[in-house]
Formats: sequence, C-alpha cells, structure tokens
Amino acid sequence: MDWHPAFDAVADGVCLLDSDGRIQRANDGLVRLTGMAAESLAGSQIGAVLASSLGILDLPFLLPIGASGFRKVSMAYAHGRRYTLTFEPARDSAGVLVVGNGGDGEKLDEAWQLAERRETEAVELRSTARRMHELERMKSDFLNLASHELRGPLAVLRGYVSMFEDGSLGDLTDSMEAVVPVMTTKLREMNLLISQMLETARLEDSRLVLSRERLDLRDVLAGAREKMQPIAGERHPISTEEGAPAVPVVGDRNRLTMILTNLMDNAIKYSPDGGEVACRILARGGRAILSVSDRGIGIRSDDLGRLFTRFGRVVNADTSHIPGTGLGLYLARELARMHGGDIEVESVPKVGSTFRLVLPLATA
Ligand code: ADP
Repeated sequence: MDWHPAFDAVADGVCLLDSDGRIQRANDGLVRLTGMAAESLAGSQIGAVLASSLGILDLPFLLPIGASGFRKVSMAYAHGRRYTLTFEPARDSAGVLVVGNGGDGEKLDEAWQLAERRETEAVELRSTARRMHELERMKSDFLNLASHELRGPLAVLRGYVSMFEDGSLGDLTDSMEAVVPVMTTKLREMNLLISQMLETARLEDSRLVLSRERLDLRDVLAGAREKMQPIAGERHPISTEEGAPAVPVVGDRNRLTMILTNLMDNAIKYSPDGGEVACRILARGGRAILSVSDRGIGIRSDDLGRLFTRFGRVVNADTSHIPGTGLGLYLARELARMHGGDIEVESVPKVGSTFRLVLPLATA
C-alpha cells in the first residue's frame, strides 16, 4: 500500500497493520501520540504499543486482525482521555488503524455522568411504569370484586323493599309510607352505580361483548326515560323531542340504554336547583344524534378533557358534595365507540350542558 504524504500531516495516529496485528508503518501522528520513535513502532504489536503508551488496554474489537473484512469503530477511555479507534480493512495488508485523540477527560466525565444519570432515570421510569401498571391492575381487580360482592346484598334489599311496596309485609305506617319511596330511589341509584362498575370491569378485562340488533334509537330513548323517571322526580322533568320518523341503528339495546341513563343521571345530579332534562333525537348526514341537555352547573372548558377518563371527576365547590365514581362518562364513551360512534359535549358554566351521543345510522 502506498503511503501518501498526507498521512503524516494529519493529527490522528495512523498505522498500517499486518494480519498478526504488527505495525508495518506509522505516521507522524502516531509518533506524537505515543511518544515512541517511528523505528520502535515498526514491527511492534499494536496492542502492546497502545497499552504501554496510552494506557488503552482493551482492543478486543480488533482481534483477530484479519478475521473480518469490515470497518470497525470503537471508543476507548484511558487516563482521562478519550480515543476513537477506526479500523479500515485494506486489500494488500490487514488494514489501517486510525487512532483519534478525541478530547479531554473532563468533558468526557461530564458526558459519562450525564449518560449515567440518564440510565438511572430510565431505570426509575421503568420501575414507576411497572408500579403504575400494577396499581391499574389492582384497581381493576378491586372494581370487579366490589361490584360482584355488592350485587348480592343489594338484591336482598331490593326484595324487601318491593315486599314493603306491595304490602306483603303488612300495612305500612305513615312514616314508612314516606320512607319506602326514598329507599326505592336510592336502591335504583345504587343499582346504576354497580352496573357501571361491573361494566367497567368487563371492559377492562376485554370481557365486554356487544350484542348487535337493529333498533330504533327512539325506542331506546323511551326505555331509558322510563327507567330514569322515578330518579328524576318532579324537579327534573325529562322531555323528549323527535326530529325524525325513525332513527335506525345497529347495536346493543342494554348498553345503549346504559349510555343514555348515565347521561340523564348526570343531567339530574349536576342540576341541583332542578330544571328540565331535554332529550332530542334526530337523523342527519348518515348519523343518529341524541342529545341530553340540562340547566345545571355546567363545566369549565379547562375541565372538559378530564370528563371521559376513567375515574375522571371535576371536583370543586359546586360538585364536591355530589356523589359519583367518575366512571359514567368513561364507560359511555367507550360503549359509544364500540358502536362506531362517540360522545360529544358542550357546556357553559352556570347555564348548563349538552351531551350528544352520535351513532352511525343503520342502512336499509
Ligand atoms: P360521576 O360519577 O362523577 O358523575 P361521570 O364520569 O359520569 O362521573 O362524570 C364525570 C364528571 O363530569 C363528573 O364528576 C362531573 O364533574 C362532570 N359532569 C358530568 N356530567 C355533567 C353535567 N351534566 N353537568 C355538569 N357536570 C357534569
């Protein structure tokens, strides 16, 4: 291999190696770098030269020299300095090694410290992610367990209350006459809550499978309204307005009912001063649109993003005394999306909110 004069002009150490790793020829850069005379360098093992002069002890990437015909680049760190070692295989010898003197130790120390910090942070992040994942799983397990365990006692209570209602436990006193309807309403509310918890647990375990039948969304709305009427009472009259002669959709009647009862339940809960809950239904542009509007406390635009997250609640002076799990809207949106639709919201604080269920219209 010809030795071009430019080799002596470069600052890096350059040497030609034979297949045993012996230096055949070295440039002035390597002489300066190692402090060894060109004659001593010639014929010496490159490993021994770099170890004794620069303290670079580890050259495994180079060995065996002739074994690979590929370019290899590696970094070495010795006595507070950093070196870049680049091996270029050559045709008429084993190859050329370039030893780049790549900077002082302080900068390198900083870089290494930074890299170490990053690594520590990455380890911490990984362990936090694992903990979060574990907590999420525990939350799901708890939800599943609690909702299943609550169902039994609730059924017993419902049984007794209906026996009070139908007189099978004898005549009611006047004070009991007043109390039984309250118990019935509270049991309905608990029922709603437990079914939300059960559905969320199913959703998270991927056990929630929709049934699909052709439905008129107006019938689903009528059913949900009937269910909610006792909870709404006189302070929250539920009105319905139909803007289409038929609103056909394909979906799961129970799940769609659940979405609507959740929306109506919220409209009632978050209108503490009462007010109409207005439901409107129409079919437009291939979509069924069902809106539930209230004249309640409304929601600030900053808080809208949180509504549909799991356990997401807006807690402020107006809402902190209103009971809830923060699961209703999360579940409603997930169910709507499983139907190929979505839930949208518009709200003005102290004026009211409109939640809109949008579903694809069924085609003929
Ligand atoms: P929650 O069980 O808390 O009612 P949801 O998921 O149904 O849970 O609702 C999430 C939050 O959105 C509620 O905590 C409430 O702050 C807000 N919200 C929902 N519906 C309404 C509404 N109609 N008016 C005002 N705020 C509402």
